[in-house]
Amino acid sequence: MAEIRLEGVSKVFDKTVAVDDVQLHVADGEFMVLLGPSGCGKTTLLRLLAGLEYPNGGRVRIGDTDVTDLPPRKRDLAMVFQSYAVFPHLTVFDNIAFGLRMRKVDRAKVHERVERAATLVELGDLLGRYPAQLSGGQRQRVAVARAIVMEPAVLLMDEPLSNLDALLRLTFRAQLKQLVAELKTTTIYVTHDQVEALSLGNRIAVMNKGRIIQCDTPGTVYGEPASRFVGAFIGNPPMNFLTGRVHRNGGPPSVTVADHVLQVAAELDGEPDGEVLVGIRAENIRAEVEPFPDALQARTRVVEPLGSHLLITADVGEQPIKITAPADFPAHPNRELWLRFDPAKVRMFRPS
Ligand code: ATP
Repeated sequence: MAEIRLEGVSKVFDKTVAVDDVQLHVADGEFMVLLGPSGCGKTTLLRLLAGLEYPNGGRVRIGDTDVTDLPPRKRDLAMVFQSYAVFPHLTVFDNIAFGLRMRKVDRAKVHERVERAATLVELGDLLGRYPAQLSGGQRQRVAVARAIVMEPAVLLMDEPLSNLDALLRLTFRAQLKQLVAELKTTTIYVTHDQVEALSLGNRIAVMNKGRIIQCDTPGTVYGEPASRFVGAFIGNPPMNFLTGRVHRNGGPPSVTVADHVLQVAAELDGEPDGEVLVGIRAENIRAEVEPFPDALQARTRVVEPLGSHLLITADVGEQPIKITAPADFPAHPNRELWLRFDPAKVRMFRPS
């Protein structure tokens, strides 16, 4: 069993609270992504898990063992970093074999395991090359092979794709996903790239200011963000937020945005009267150029053709909103638009 439990883990550097009372349970074989903006504590959390930092509070468990007081080499984990840090004077084979040889694994076994790991990351034909003779993506695959060859209970990765160019990132992302699914190793993966997080994770732990704000499947984190921060951080474009008001007037509650009554399915019973933030994703808005019933009026500001669709920036009163529309939608700047939100996709947030 290689489940991971972080129980109330905190880390303070001087006066900076890098990790603040984090609770996290990662199931055996799960691919967990830690996602958040620069400085939110992702790397520190990973280093606490690896044993490279000691927590100021809380416990770290891997499987049935409390590893809080164990050094990194006794935690049965391997790490892949952003800078692939492969040894330039060693061949691909010797780079991958390095950790096994340090552990004095016998020769035949080293051969067998290196070849298997190299095949998994599709480097089987390049074992005799030196890092200088490899592309960035291949070098990063050496780093991944060097980690998985150790057959660790836990694999930790810190932004392993960020040194690759955009196209290589895309290719390697899919390869990595397939590889980790085959290995079934419990994996924790740090990134600030929300697309990478959505693409790779079984679950995503979204962090801000040292805390985990939401931890859930990519679909839930994207579709039902727990806060404005999560809705704005995940998704391109970010979720739209419009200021609205909850009214009761004795009857069932309703929500208005720019004096227009919205059709919403979201549970409003708990909402007090007054200001709310109405969250809606660009693709959950239907736009028309002719008025239609229950539609919210907007004025087009910018139209960006993105190949498969248009991204429209419009104004609802004074409030900006982004809408996606089919590539052949007849939009142009200053044109009036009529918008309808998919009621099931509307989220309500307290302004605070
Ligand atoms: P990035 O994506 O930029 O790598 P991150 O989310 O991984 O950021 P951390 O590197 O964990 O963030 O840093 C969290 C906070 O702790 C930051 O404010 C950082 O400046 C601080 N910090 C991290 N390591 C140290 C250290 N060794 N000494 C002092 N402060 C540190």
